[in-house]
Amino acid sequence: MVDHHKHCPKCETPWEEKETITEYFTNLFEKEGIPDYAKKDDRGARFKGVVPVKKAATNVAQSYGCTPETPKHFGKDVVGVEMDRDRVEYWECQKCKVHIDRFTGLATDKFKKKKETVH
Ligand SMILES: [Zn+2]
Repeated sequence: MVDHHKHCPKCETPWEEKETITEYFTNLFEKEGIPDYAKKDDRGARFKGVVPVKKAATNVAQSYGCTPETPKHFGKDVVGVEMDRDRVEYWECQKCKVHIDRFTGLATDKFKKKKETVH
């Protein structure tokens, strides 16, 4: 199963930000300060004293499953297409509009056909 593409197989547009989610929040908090929601641990207990940016960012990133061992990146220029089972089955590239089957990793023209039938 191909669960995740790092870039569009057709037009090569990157589908991931270069920075990890931890880096994203580190930069954000350094610029804009640490929001209240980031000053609590995963059980909702507030951190005591001055919260270091790194700690807050790491904490928030963890809720996205991004840890130093399993770095994750936010997606961009791609959207997941949910079908009737309420889960993503296709990726749609926002640049070239190709649809990629999440499970086979192959391009599909299923949506094109559908649209032509409707209109
Ligand atoms: Zn593309």
